[in-house]
Amino acid sequence: MSPRFCIACGTELRPREVDGRSRQVCPECGRVSWENPVPAAAVVVRRAREVLLCRRIIEPYAGQWTLPAGYQEVDESIESTAVREVREETGLVVRLTGLIDVFTTPDDPRKPSILVVYEAEEADGELVPGEECSEVAWASLDALPRDIGFANNRIVLERLRKGETRTW
Ligand SMILES: [Zn+2]
Repeated sequence: MSPRFCIACGTELRPREVDGRSRQVCPECGRVSWENPVPAAAVVVRRAREVLLCRRIIEPYAGQWTLPAGYQEVDESIESTAVREVREETGLVVRLTGLIDVFTTPDDPRKPSILVVYEAEEADGELVPGEECSEVAWASLDALPRDIGFANNRIVLERLRKGETRTW
């Protein structure tokens, strides 16, 4: 979904070749509308063989279970994003314990993103579903709900179920 107007001066953008591909460029001020994936973080909060899942009430994947996750704000580190999203969506304060994987995510219809998946343990707080969830619950890796949203969430959980790890 490309922008139509220049965010600097409001002029209608026109396609022009820049750095080897067609990009939306402002004919007035020359500003290029660079389009890049957005960084996001997801967290596997673990309690032995249980993981913390949220049931979403917003699209995409409304009604399905997902790992707590969200987009990085411009003024925070990706680690802070991970901790903040868990707190907002589940009420728990967590401590990150490892990096599980990094995905280029094609199945988020809102925008292309890079999903950094962390592992974490709970440190404080109590379970309270956030505004974007109807429920938060611990789920056993051996009895996961069938309706898990996002392909990368399913990949991560299946790997953890089998005891496979991937470290970078
Ligand atoms: Zn402009």
